Amino acid sequence: MVVLNTLKQLTKHLKKVRDQNYNIGFIPTMGALHPGHISLIHAAQQQQDITVCSIFVNPTQFNDLNDLLKYPRTIEADCKLLEEARCDIVFIPEVSEIYSPEELLLKKNSLEDKSWTEGKTVDFGLLADVMEGAHRPGHFNGVAQVVSKLLKIVRPNKVYFGQKDFQQLAIIRSLVKQLNLPIQIIACPTIREPSGLAMSSRNERLSHKERISAALLSEILFELKDLYLQKTIPELKLFVANKIMTDPMIELEYFEISDAETLQKITHFGLTKSAVACFAIKLGGIRLIDNIVLY
Ligand code: AMP
Repeated sequence: MVVLNTLKQLTKHLKKVRDQNYNIGFIPTMGALHPGHISLIHAAQQQQDITVCSIFVNPTQFNDLNDLLKYPRTIEADCKLLEEARCDIVFIPEVSEIYSPEELLLKKNSLEDKSWTEGKTVDFGLLADVMEGAHRPGHFNGVAQVVSKLLKIVRPNKVYFGQKDFQQLAIIRSLVKQLNLPIQIIACPTIREPSGLAMSSRNERLSHKERISAALLSEILFELKDLYLQKTIPELKLFVANKIMTDPMIELEYFEISDAETLQKITHFGLTKSAVACFAIKLGGIRLIDNIVLY
């Protein structure tokens, strides 16, 4: 496994890879790796010749400075996991390698800033106005900004994302389509702990007690999957609210049942091709998200 820190090193290395006509699979991450991330590495290895993983805690997607500062950073352990998983290339840039001081100072991660889209206008429309987009202003602009930069550097054949971040996946699909990038997006299933809790780097910050409480989230999602055919959406929302109230440690930020393509709220089942139930909660100051595709 090769660990590279600069754009120059990465570009040079990838040129050699491309010269040999190898296909490249890319997995962008923010590190603090767990089996969920490693499942994306394995998915890429099954389909591609060379697997590239990036570890970069992207400052422009954090709307809460405290969250950015507290984000777990475990580079050594991450490299060990990637080595064991037989990842080929790991890219771990400094912030200055990705962003100019102006981009950071001016917080120019807005869609109006066309420096990262090569002059093209990108508009996520209603996709970015709901759920995470509504609760974390600027978050998806920051995600789109860093992903578009990384995709242009790595130029993979396929890029791998987890369905755990369901809305992010929809945003990336829209980004790749709008920028007309010749890259296939592969969605990978959510990997869970034995309790059902979706694996997340943020879980590391949960106490033992909070981790037990957090399992309620997936428990509710699995119950919804079993229940939704027998209930109306208002009934399901009430069911979820009542369940959440049983644990005073959990603060519900949002729960939505939405069209899985447009991510807009639905009022009845059956009127859309697909539906997804999505959650965000806070537990001991830590924000967790999860979702389940109902149909
Ligand atoms: P992150 O490091 O949180 O930015 O995540 C990097 C990638 O790993 C994203 O595509 C996530 O959706 C994916 N991911 C995170 N957690 C999981 C999980 N539990 N199962 C599958 N993929 C995941």
